[in-house]
Amino acid sequence: MRGEFSLIERFLEAFPRARAPRGPGDDCAVLAPTRGALCVTTDTVVEGVHFTREGFSPEDIGHKALAVNLSDLAAMGATPRWFLCALALPRDFPEGQLRRLARGMSALARAHRISLVGGNFTSARELSITLTAAGELQRPALTRGGGRPGELLYVSGTLGEARLGLLQLQAGRRRGTAILRQRRPVPRVALGRLASRFASAGLDVSDGLAQDLGHLCDASRVGAVVELAHLPLSPAVRAELGPVGALAGGEDYELLLAVPPERAQAFERACARAGERVTRIGQLTRQRRRVLRDPDGRLLPPPPGFDHFTRGRSLD
Ligand SMILES: [Mg+2]
Repeated sequence: MRGEFSLIERFLEAFPRARAPRGPGDDCAVLAPTRGALCVTTDTVVEGVHFTREGFSPEDIGHKALAVNLSDLAAMGATPRWFLCALALPRDFPEGQLRRLARGMSALARAHRISLVGGNFTSARELSITLTAAGELQRPALTRGGGRPGELLYVSGTLGEARLGLLQLQAGRRRGTAILRQRRPVPRVALGRLASRFASAGLDVSDGLAQDLGHLCDASRVGAVVELAHLPLSPAVRAELGPVGALAGGEDYELLLAVPPERAQAFERACARAGERVTRIGQLTRQRRRVLRDPDGRLLPPPPGFDHFTRGRSLD
């Protein structure tokens, strides 16, 4: 492929000097954790699955690639510190677009004080970006398996917006709140750190709340009841998708948290003080089935989960 080394230089120019003993330029980065344990995650965004070049600017793509990894760090209560970036680029990918992609990524990296410490370029048929991100823990990590029957379920922000944004993009729209949520997910990093003081289990909602709640319940060996009337939905999502449709929508990148009842009030107060929106949506149960309760008290099964690959095909 064309000058790999000059491409790497162009890409790195967008980022500040890494906060690490050795950043990009050697065979490995050298990191110096200052406290506690490290959380490490990796996630890929792929053209035609997580974005299209028609619907997303290069800055959006760079932002999204980092945001989905930051969301995983947030889910564990970690403070973002370092990341590696492996880029697979089509041969004809314009250098100007690569710079813009780097700028979108570096703006979010600066906002969260996470340093790019290395990476790799390769040529490929489709654009894809794989990041590996590491964060530091100040207290025990928030995991999926710590939930207990009787604990209260909270979700941050609003649900279904990214799915609505995807549908709008597919219908040819290019602007609007929901489309922005699809292009520029907001990782709940500060909330994750706060929640690690109160919650007993948590994860980020990347595959739709219905499916991610299933992951939490399976890992915690519990069931759950979700109150449909309590779901935080924007008026547009309520009108276009309805509560059940919002539960099946992927890529919200909100946090789902289980909080023991005796800590719920303190958790809600801390969230209010920090300006973090959380909504109580249900409860974990001893009986290991997951149900939705409608406003009339009727119990419904949750919608089937979200599948990136199904969606990938639908974008072809
Ligand atoms: Mg996750």
